[in-house]
Amino acid sequence: MNIDKILEYQKKDKDLSLLFKKFKSEPKYISYQKNDTHKKKVYSDMDRLDKMADISESKATKYQLLLDEYKAEMEELKTTVAEIDSFQGANYSTDMIQKLSDKCSKLIKEISNLHNNIQETNIIKDKVIKEGKEISNLYSTSKKEFEELQAEYKPQFDSIQAELKSMKQEIPEEILIKYHALKKNGLSPSIAEYNPSSRQCMGCFEMLSQGMAEKMNKNTGLLECPVCNRLLYTKEQ
Ligand SMILES: [Zn+2]
Repeated sequence: MNIDKILEYQKKDKDLSLLFKKFKSEPKYISYQKNDTHKKKVYSDMDRLDKMADISESKATKYQLLLDEYKAEMEELKTTVAEIDSFQGANYSTDMIQKLSDKCSKLIKEISNLHNNIQETNIIKDKVIKEGKEISNLYSTSKKEFEELQAEYKPQFDSIQAELKSMKQEIPEEILIKYHALKKNGLSPSIAEYNPSSRQCMGCFEMLSQGMAEKMNKNTGLLECPVCNRLLYTKEQ
């Protein structure tokens, strides 16, 4: 196995990570991400307001139905009152009027609450729409700048990626899989040097056992560090 090829790959891959880090630290990238997040927030606010409007609308429909119901009850009561011919009948009608009046008061209160809610929602909605227009303009500008930045970086990304792709041809697949798994776990470098004189893994700096050291001394390929799982190689003396 050609350790040099693997190390070269690791170095190039690090270049890619560094380039990506540089790209992500560009003010144009940061500004675009910020505006994108803001835009998403405004959109979700708008969704929330739409849902609130739907709820208000269904409440208004419900109240309209109740109002119609109470009107019908009122008409019925009018007839009953017109036909009162006894003291008992009068008492009964008074009770019914009281009950209907209570229900109407309750409904009026609910309608008033709904009215207030709608007014509040409208104020928020105006604000969100204004914010939406502002962010939409900001977003368009920063998106354009972001795309320019992407275009600026593209040749560098493409060149490194092409080099990595060609290097991959000369590295066993299982090593590449292992390498990327280690990298994903935050172990960088994933391929670390073994220092025979101190018996250390130069990735985690732990001292390896005598047995492991002997294995490393005999081996010319890569062995897994029993402590950090990095792949270890020994530099040729
Ligand atoms: Zn280690």
